[in-house]
Amino acid sequence: MMEPPEKQKKSPIMELLQRFPKRHLVTTAVLVIALVGMLLLPGKDDIEPQRQSRPISIDIQEDVKALMPEVTEPVTAEIVPQVEWHRETVRSGDNLSLIFQRAGLTDRDLLEFMKGHNESKKLKRIHPGHELEFHIEDKQLLALRYRENRLNSHLFNRTAKRTFEYEKETRQPDVQSAYREAVIHDSLFLAGQKVQMDADLIMELANIFGWDIDFGLDIRKGDHFKVLFEERFLDGEKIGNGNILAAEFTNQKTTFRAVRYEDNKGNTHYYTPEGKSMRKAFLRAPLDFRRISSNFNPRRIHPKFKTVRPHRGTDYAASRGTPVWASGDGKVITSSYTKANGNYVVIQHGNNVQTKYLHLHKRKVKTGQRVRQKQLIGTVGSTGYSTGPHLHYEFLLNGVHRNPRTILQKLPKAKSIAKAETERFRAATQPLLEAMEQQHQQRLLARAGTE
Ligand SMILES: [Zn+2]
Repeated sequence: MMEPPEKQKKSPIMELLQRFPKRHLVTTAVLVIALVGMLLLPGKDDIEPQRQSRPISIDIQEDVKALMPEVTEPVTAEIVPQVEWHRETVRSGDNLSLIFQRAGLTDRDLLEFMKGHNESKKLKRIHPGHELEFHIEDKQLLALRYRENRLNSHLFNRTAKRTFEYEKETRQPDVQSAYREAVIHDSLFLAGQKVQMDADLIMELANIFGWDIDFGLDIRKGDHFKVLFEERFLDGEKIGNGNILAAEFTNQKTTFRAVRYEDNKGNTHYYTPEGKSMRKAFLRAPLDFRRISSNFNPRRIHPKFKTVRPHRGTDYAASRGTPVWASGDGKVITSSYTKANGNYVVIQHGNNVQTKYLHLHKRKVKTGQRVRQKQLIGTVGSTGYSTGPHLHYEFLLNGVHRNPRTILQKLPKAKSIAKAETERFRAATQPLLEAMEQQHQQRLLARAGTE
């Protein structure tokens, strides 16, 4: 809309007020007055301590008093003497000397403090965003609190002229379980984001199933998942996620389920509901699936010949420099270069399995070296017969190229829960799996109700 040219320019506030209908204007004015009044009055925090400490005195006559219900003193929290804390937030490029200066202290005070208790060296780990709180009286530092995060602080109290006592202050978050489920339409990440899962949670979910599912190449439209996990709260505010407690992932109509369990030795792992470890001898994909660029492309073009041709192995298109991992524990039997393979690595796992990694940009292991699962062995490149950066990965069982997806049962068996611990495992994990299923049923009912 165009403004009439003869109209004079008004202040934005006047313009805003004029746009309001009269009735709204009156309401707004009343609200503004009320708001100003509230701001002028002392805040709730200011009056609370006095009100709590003031004894109740009601001046009424005895006979009237008899008719009144008995007045009891309200239960109040213990009143801690108010300490004036001066708060400083660590900025980038900061150091302790600068922070002490801002708090009104000197380098001498800093030196005295650092010598005052051995744990003061903790302050050498400060990072931007951390907080330091100073209690200073008569220019003397009486106490210092180093707030590492919302859960952990370190408190130093002066006890004598040059000594401080140290106390670690730890707060426990409230933990509640939460549930999400989603059907994948274009990618795992988009599906997760749509149901308010953060990237770490989605990645953790993928890690749990990373021995069964190749999240780079196997995911298809219609795959779906359920996840029961912990949310952590502090003072009623969510501060982050905790562990995944139970999860289910259906990939190309095969359903995998996992549940978290801490065994009687205190080790925590994910297991199938039957008690088999989710951790297996071989990772399905030897690189981070988030770096793989060929989601939903089952008919991949061979990078060199530009045709769809059966070829032994799997090609993962990823940017140059993407880390490549050993898919299982083993020994490097070749780390070398040929005209066709470029930089390549071959790993022997036990007697019958070999894995090969071709066209690497850089090799990070030497022939003869032992490697662990997920250890860095090289980076994605385009050396040898290759037109673009990709990893050509081969899996050989008894010298024959195999698709790891179809031969899982021929591979070394995953470890199971010890017989003696089966009962304990059931008791701990059944409720989690049931809670997940219950949440799912509730969603189904809610959906049926809206249809
Ligand atoms: Zn290839």
